[in-house]
Amino acid sequence: MTEIEEKATPTENKYSDDDLGILLKHYYKRLFPTKLYHKWLQYGEGTTTFENREFSFTLKDDIYIRYMSFGDASDLDKELQKRVPYKIDIGAVYNHKPKDNKTLQAGVFKPLEKELVFDIDMTDYDDVRTCCSGAAICKKCWPFMNLAIKIIDKVLSDDFGFKHRLWVYSGRRGVHCWVADETARKLTQAGRSAVAEYINVIKGGESQNKKVQFRGTNHELHPSLERAKAHVTKYFNDSYLTDQNILENEEQRELMLKLIPDEKTRKTVSEHWETMGKKASTEELWTYLSQTVEEKHFNKHIADEIMFQYVYPRLDINVSKGLNHLLKSPFCIHPKTGRVCVPINPSKVDDFEPEKVPTISQLMEELDEAKKSSDGNTQDTKDSKEYMSTSLRDSIVLFKKFVTSLDVQLRGDKPAKQENKIDW
Ligand SMILES: [Zn+2]
Repeated sequence: MTEIEEKATPTENKYSDDDLGILLKHYYKRLFPTKLYHKWLQYGEGTTTFENREFSFTLKDDIYIRYMSFGDASDLDKELQKRVPYKIDIGAVYNHKPKDNKTLQAGVFKPLEKELVFDIDMTDYDDVRTCCSGAAICKKCWPFMNLAIKIIDKVLSDDFGFKHRLWVYSGRRGVHCWVADETARKLTQAGRSAVAEYINVIKGGESQNKKVQFRGTNHELHPSLERAKAHVTKYFNDSYLTDQNILENEEQRELMLKLIPDEKTRKTVSEHWETMGKKASTEELWTYLSQTVEEKHFNKHIADEIMFQYVYPRLDINVSKGLNHLLKSPFCIHPKTGRVCVPINPSKVDDFEPEKVPTISQLMEELDEAKKSSDGNTQDTKDSKEYMSTSLRDSIVLFKKFVTSLDVQLRGDKPAKQENKIDW
């Protein structure tokens, strides 16, 4: 049975998606940016950061291997081609080589550092999207991810001063962020929790209706929330209400009414909504609600709290808090979609279209085409120019930018002579 449910290029593709193992073998051999990847995770010359880093591989048939580690880029390259992982996860940097952990005495082997990571998954939005559910995504719900990137990226840069942020498409239905500044990598568990909690405003489990509560009824919002509010309001009013039509039926209307804490106001809105009738549009109903809660003025944040509850980023907070939590690696192939986990440019987030992210079979086709047109001169091995002829080019260029800027800072902000020679 095929591992791949969705195909980007459904016909005339000579590579069968049944052969994910074979495709992956080619992908690791010819396209996976091992040297650049190693450069990133090594964090400077002569460190042990790369060799003490935990990787885990998920092999065919869900065979899962933890505590793997590699000496250098060519060691990693060799193992990738030998074991052909269906998934690669990155864990923490330990005080010893993870592959030696069983030879160490109990309690000696400890995680020391890791990027500060964020994981946002569309399945956490199932109660506020009507277009899809579960693993499915579409043009109407993907903007949740765009909004999440815009808001969180700004918090990380402006409020925490983090410069090295790598946003990555998870390959299917979400996004990840890797914050690679030294201060972020060295954060304790408590420090990670503090950052994650600072960003997290949607609180309470399924039994709690009202999940966003701003402090004070008439105080100004925290500047960070005020900044997020501009994005939230724009998205909510310009696209979300019409795209998701969230007040279409009685049940949905009841859910939103429950978010008005004051009973009298809630009754006023509810009664007026009745008079507007079943056919009233989501926008009309929302306009009445937001104006009414504003006029009543017992709490000027009610409309904001409702908007935030519906569209503000929903973090899988435990992924951010744990120092030894593993997260899927950039440039992995998602085994269900065949798509590459490519970096996303946060300043051009609205241009990102997940359905246009190349699949592994598409990339192999492109490599073959390029080879044909160059009269077969290119080798069937990693050629530093080969990726230039595939749709992975922009992604590798973006990744290279991230690694180069880290490298420049690690060398004391002095651009190196060799800088342009960072291989991929
Ligand atoms: Zn959708």
